[in-house]
Amino acid sequence: MTNIVNLFASPEKSKKEPSKQENPKTEKLEKESLKADSIGEVFLVGAGPGDPELITVKAMRLLQQADAIVYDRLANPLLLDYARKHCDLIYVGKKKDQHSLPQDQICALLAALAGCGKKVVRLKGGDPFIFGRGGEEVEHLAEQGIACTIVPGITAAIGCAATTQIPLTHRDHAHAVTFITGHRQHGKMYINWDLALQKDSTVVFYMGLSNLPEITSELIARGCPGDKPFAVVAQGTAETQQVLVGTVSDIAERLARHPLPSPALLIMGDVINANGYAQHLADLTGAAQPLSAEMLEVI
Ligand code: SAH
Repeated sequence: MTNIVNLFASPEKSKKEPSKQENPKTEKLEKESLKADSIGEVFLVGAGPGDPELITVKAMRLLQQADAIVYDRLANPLLLDYARKHCDLIYVGKKKDQHSLPQDQICALLAALAGCGKKVVRLKGGDPFIFGRGGEEVEHLAEQGIACTIVPGITAAIGCAATTQIPLTHRDHAHAVTFITGHRQHGKMYINWDLALQKDSTVVFYMGLSNLPEITSELIARGCPGDKPFAVVAQGTAETQQVLVGTVSDIAERLARHPLPSPALLIMGDVINANGYAQHLADLTGAAQPLSAEMLEVI
């Protein structure tokens, strides 16, 4: 919280600001910095899913220029090393059911920082507009007349697909991919089950780890084939990534035996078996086994 004491100070000039020799784009940087001094603005920036190298060049440049960075639990803290020396680094938490700062206060904080002339980077895990509440922040800033720019990031589904080699829309298996939130609001899940049960499609559930048993039983009760491949990817793209593979009917039991940490994605669909993925997992575990075998739990 000590950073918040600084919030209303005017932005300090950084000693680390790059010189023309260090960076050929200095002129552009200076122009943008001047702009920030006079009016202040917010950049809603996607940090990518975990691996800090999965950030865009644009996002990286903004991190290096920011007067304040307001960041979430899911944004890799290593990215903060790129901040200028006098940049305010403000953590706004967000663990499940335990927001260290409620959303309306985050919005107010962004507006206050920009209102006193700061160039603010709001750094969010993955992409700001995929289950990131970025929309609410943009609306609030627009109401306050504060300029806001969105910088996209690699969302967890795309990052996890790459590191697990699950081709989400492999043309032989899926013609669509659906992102669904599996979390509860006021104790209730709001899943569009028809959407989740579409044929020839891949489904990715965000925020569904703790509700996995309920999600899979509901899918089966509504006619999902019990042998539909199902994967859980925990801490995807990070060095600590873990993958659990099974079917919609046995994944809950597998997960109970091998609890996985958050954040985690649930992926359902025949694409999990595409590209010899079963073989790939078996190789990782050191023994070739069919998908149904225990060895496919890569922990
Ligand atoms: N805006 C983020 C999603 C925020 S919602 C994005 O675009 O990725 C938070 C959920 O995202 C988590 O509950 C989890 O389901 C998923 N998630 C985020 N990072 C993840 C990661 N590294 N591995 C697996 N799932 C992740």
